[in-house]
Amino acid sequence: MNKPFIPEDEVGILDSPVEVLSTLTREGERKWIYPTLERGRFYKPRLWLGWFLIVLFVALPLIPINGQPAVLIDFIHREFALFGLIFYPTDTLLLLLSMFGTIIGIFLFTALLGRVWCGWGCPQTVYMEFVFRPIERWLEGKEHVRKRRDEGPWTWDKIWRKSVKHSLYLLISLALAHVFVSYFVGWDNLIYWMQQSPREHWGFFVTMALTTGLILFDFGYFREQMCTIACPYARFQSVLIDPNSLIISYDENRGETRAKRSKKKIRDEEAGLIPMKGDCIDCFACVRTCPTGIDIRDGLQMECIGCTQCIDACDTIMDKISKPRGLIRYTSENELAGQTTRWWRTRTVLYTVLGLFVAVIFTGVLLSRSSYDVNVGRVVGAPFTELPDGRIANRLRFRVRNQQPYAATFTIEAVSPGEAEIRIVGVSPITLEPQEMKRTEAWIVTPRTSFTDDTVEGVFRLTFEDGTVEEVTFPLLGPSD
Ligand code: SF4
Ligand code: SF4
Repeated sequence: MNKPFIPEDEVGILDSPVEVLSTLTREGERKWIYPTLERGRFYKPRLWLGWFLIVLFVALPLIPINGQPAVLIDFIHREFALFGLIFYPTDTLLLLLSMFGTIIGIFLFTALLGRVWCGWGCPQTVYMEFVFRPIERWLEGKEHVRKRRDEGPWTWDKIWRKSVKHSLYLLISLALAHVFVSYFVGWDNLIYWMQQSPREHWGFFVTMALTTGLILFDFGYFREQMCTIACPYARFQSVLIDPNSLIISYDENRGETRAKRSKKKIRDEEAGLIPMKGDCIDCFACVRTCPTGIDIRDGLQMECIGCTQCIDACDTIMDKISKPRGLIRYTSENELAGQTTRWWRTRTVLYTVLGLFVAVIFTGVLLSRSSYDVNVGRVVGAPFTELPDGRIANRLRFRVRNQQPYAATFTIEAVSPGEAEIRIVGVSPITLEPQEMKRTEAWIVTPRTSFTDDTVEGVFRLTFEDGTVEEVTFPLLGPSD
């Protein structure tokens, strides 16, 4: 393959025969990337989608559904709210199924669409390309200006531009960290804690500071390194995609032999006056725009995040030299080899069937999920108490969670042993607000004769006003004589 000449001050790619990452020098030092912006046909939809996702990220913890945020991962109370549905640690099967479903979905999506997620939906790309990089361009100018200034001495111009940029980055990182933390604690708690002294909620402030620092480090410094060396999804790509998967690729058959040439030379070639070359005019527009610093013409590479900028760059060049667009395009390895892309093949059919299977089971389990989660246990202290009349009293606690979006009232009665009497500590019937969990303590008073050895099985019935009846069992303890 031709080894192109790239002016050192124009592009940040490797022009060495030694194979190293595109963002590293031969000595292993970081090579800063200054990608150009190409506002082509894919840029606009990506921009719109990116901003839609940003707004969605901010809005989800704010939108109330059935009295809960649309999404809340509440580790403290061990609840997970998702669009009106509440999941608890007891919903192990549902959580496992949703995990399987997500994994199968990622497999299917990647087998069909390759790295569309990376280029269009991943927060790393969305925030980098549509929030942080535009601020940098606005304050520090175009790529070549930024590069020259970065390599130059620390002047007042450089200092104020970088200071303002990093201050804005800090503010945005702080805002994003607050939104991120709100997914775990909810906005009500967040706003309350923000008004308190850091000493009272130091855990919150440490988490917030760490999250802000990580976001700032990622978008201010780490950038494309996240995709090229840290992200595990990129590493799975090679096993998840196959020759039928959608990729962004340079059409070598059409582009080679690449050669720099003018419009006139191209016309001469087409008129048969001089030997014909490929459509690639070796202008490096596709390389200069690449946010990971690679040359797409070197073939499919792990560093390619599918951002479509090279398509937009090359289409612009093709328009200028009056050649058809699509020298770099969405395609598949099979299509490039002159074969048909097969969307439905063994792996995609298998993933779809498995995904549907998991979705059906998930729906079935969800619909058959009990409206109330009931759990019974013994109150800490003496295992039983002997009353003056000789009967035995066990103190139990009933933990009941209302998993319905409406309030519920219930009573508890002892079913077995037959002579058992239940004395609720507190008010009965008990009322639960939607999604509320309450602990109710009760004395279970049982004749001494009920016990075989030192135990007897207690059966308790909880009757809810909507007609639901839940029965739970728990061993009652008594004297062994
Ligand atoms: S090669 Fe093209 S699609 Fe891949 S990251 Fe670079 S510019 Fe984006
Ligand atoms: S932008 Fe197109 S024409 Fe220019 S170097 Fe890249 S592939 Fe070749």
